[in-house]
Amino acid sequence: QFAQAFQNLQRCAAASERVFGFLDEPEMTDETDKPALLGADVPVRGDVEFSHVRFEYEPGKPVIRDFSASVKAGQKVAIVGPTGAGKSTMVNLLMRFYDIADGTITIDGIDTSSVPRWNVHDQFSMVLQDTWVFRGTVRENIAYAKPGVTDAQIVAACKAVGLDHFVRSLPHGYDTVLDDNTALSAGQRQLLTIARAMVQDAPILILDEATSSVDTRTEELIQQAMDALTVGRTSFVIAHRLSTIRDADMILVMEHGDVIERGTHDELLAKGGAYARLYNSQFTLAG
Ligand code: ADP
Repeated sequence: QFAQAFQNLQRCAAASERVFGFLDEPEMTDETDKPALLGADVPVRGDVEFSHVRFEYEPGKPVIRDFSASVKAGQKVAIVGPTGAGKSTMVNLLMRFYDIADGTITIDGIDTSSVPRWNVHDQFSMVLQDTWVFRGTVRENIAYAKPGVTDAQIVAACKAVGLDHFVRSLPHGYDTVLDDNTALSAGQRQLLTIARAMVQDAPILILDEATSSVDTRTEELIQQAMDALTVGRTSFVIAHRLSTIRDADMILVMEHGDVIERGTHDELLAKGGAYARLYNSQFTLAG
C-alpha cells in the first residue's frame, strides 16, 4: 500500500512538474510563528488581489515586472499569450510555489506570504493538461484529493461533470479498478480529473486547458464539466483555445512577462490589438 501511495504521489508531482516546474526548494522558513490561516474561522471566498508583483527566477532577470489585478470571488480569469510569456509563472506565484520579490498577493485580503505555504496550497484545485489515473478503483481515484469524502459526494461530483453514466456502465461501477488495461478515453480521463477537483471543493481553481485534440462532442462535454466546476469558484484558466474564454470576466494577454492587454473578450476585440489579432487568426484557421 505504501509503495502504491508513493507511486501515486510521484505521478502527481510529475504531472504538476511538467506544467508548473514544481519547486525543488524545500519549505525553508520556520512558519510556526505565523498565526494567520486562510479558512480557519470563515470559509475562503476566493477574492484575489495582485499588487505590484515582481518576480525573478534568476537575480537581475525579472520575469514578472509589475503586475496588479483585482479578482473578485467567483470570477473567471483567462491568461493567454505565447509560450514563455509568463502564464505558468503567474499561477506558480499565486499558489506560492515561489515567493515574489516585491509586491503582495492576497486571498480574501490576507497576504499569502504571511500564512504557511500548505495553507495557501489548500485553497486550490488544479486541473492540468496531464491527466493521471492510478491503479485503484474509480472511487479511490476521485476521492484522492480529499480523503474522507463520502460516496454520495463522489457520485454527485460525477453526475455534475457528466461521468456518472459512464462509471455505472463499467463492470463494477464505482468499484471498478482502473489500470492500464481499462480503456479510458482522453475525454473520460479529463472528466475524471474534473470530478476529482469537484470533490476537493477548493475555492480557487487553476485550469490548464488540454491542447490534445479530442472530437468536438467530447470537447463540449469537457467544457460543460469545466463550467459546472467553476460555478461559485474563482478560476484562473491558462487558455489555448480562445473560443473557451469568451465569457471570462478578465482576460490577461501576456508577452515577455508583461500583461500587455486586459479586459473582457468584447473589450479586447473592440480594441483591435494583440488579442484581436490572435483571436482572428485562430478564428480564420478554424474556419
Ligand atoms: P508560459 O507559461 O507562458 O509558457 P512561463 O511562465 O513558463 O511561460 O515562463 C516565463 C519565463 O520564465 C520564460 O522566459 C521561461 O524561460 C522562464 N522560466 C520559467 N520557469 C523557469 C525556471 N524554473 N527557472 C528559470 N526560468 C524559468
